[in-house]
Amino acid sequence: MFYDRAKIFVRSGDGGDGMISFRREKHVPRGGPNGGDGGRGGDILLVVNNKKNSLVLFHRQNHFKAGNGGNGQPKNKKGANGKTLRLEVPPGTTIRNADSGEVLADLIHDDDELLILAGGRGGRGNARFASSTNQAPRLAERGEPGSEMWLELELKLIADVGIIGVPNAGKSTLLSVISAANPKIADYPFTTLHPNLGVVTLNEYETILFADIPGLIEGASTGVGLGHDFLRHVERTKVLLHLLDGMSDDPLRDWAMINQELALYDARLENKSQLVVLNKIDLQEAVARQQTVEEKVLSAGFHFCAISAVTKEGIQQMLFKVKQILDLIPQTEEEKPQPLIIQPEADEGAFSIIQLDHGWRVSGIRIERVAAMTYWEFEEPVRRFQKIMEDMGVTDALVKAGVKTGDTVHIGEQILEWTE
Ligand code: GDP
Ligand code: MG
Repeated sequence: MFYDRAKIFVRSGDGGDGMISFRREKHVPRGGPNGGDGGRGGDILLVVNNKKNSLVLFHRQNHFKAGNGGNGQPKNKKGANGKTLRLEVPPGTTIRNADSGEVLADLIHDDDELLILAGGRGGRGNARFASSTNQAPRLAERGEPGSEMWLELELKLIADVGIIGVPNAGKSTLLSVISAANPKIADYPFTTLHPNLGVVTLNEYETILFADIPGLIEGASTGVGLGHDFLRHVERTKVLLHLLDGMSDDPLRDWAMINQELALYDARLENKSQLVVLNKIDLQEAVARQQTVEEKVLSAGFHFCAISAVTKEGIQQMLFKVKQILDLIPQTEEEKPQPLIIQPEADEGAFSIIQLDHGWRVSGIRIERVAAMTYWEFEEPVRRFQKIMEDMGVTDALVKAGVKTGDTVHIGEQILEWTE
């Protein structure tokens, strides 16, 4: 089974709570504040790993949570930072917000990295709130909660192996017998205008992706325009499987011709590893040509095998060879692009107020964050929260909206009672 889509739930870690604590020393009646800050919550990152080529692992587990930050400790000790989760995806993975469908990123290159959700900030300990007017603050912040979302991952397939060859060589037939794909097979060229993809399953975790690339030659020679996707596909295949028609008058001439067209199309394609495969050896004419072809191909420094796509003779050995060649290819050093980073929503200070049946709801990134980070059981943090509400204009807006003493006001998870 091949997986090119997955839906996963991710949650970044909560920040640790800041601590309220005071120094205790002999002979010092009132020690200063020494409550430490909470640690940061862990981030959720998506990272490209070139060695992966399917999303199968996200079907075994689809919930991921980064570590929470530790709480601050006395003696100004900061809580430990939460563990960041790095989720590895194959190159060519598109990341979408599952709710809105918005594309967040296309992760293409090895080591591309996307910070999908930042961990919550650690709350500040009371040591941070000491000032000349308040030397013993009973004030600290709770950690900022992590964020969560559902993501949709889609792998835009980039083939490991591109099957090329003259029309009628048997490319579509080969693809259909080695893979789960079901391409059209016909006795005439131009069967397929878009690359067909097929997956060969080696074992539970390893697959090789093949693309039947007919249009490259058949289209190019007749001037049919080639799409951008198509070019991307050919360029990114690691190995070319050059299929020779054993029934052709001169398979070696076909081979040379296609190689020349390849080079004209994109000079880099000439340097790709190529496995040359003579097809149709179930037929006598093909068998008769094998020795000459094999000698020529090997002496030119290419890999060779002979198969019959119809009887499946030689197919296993061919796949084995493909795997060997793939394993030999060095990881190419591509220039590392800047990692993509999702920015937080634009206006954090913006908020909205709506009237509920029994009270009010205030929504906004910053005000909800501050509410979540407030220690409601202490007086000073509550006063500080009120001050922030006033400074942000939330209080005025509520009064204007008609809030009355005794009404409930919901902010994030918090439910407050309105007092004068
Ligand atoms: P493509 O144009 O390269 O995709 O070629 P197709 O897969 O459409 O095959 C062209 C023709 O060759 C079809 O009639 C196939 O049945 C035939 N063919 C493909 N592979 C073999 C083979 O191994 N042996 C024989 N006898 N015929 C084959
Ligand atoms: Mg075909």
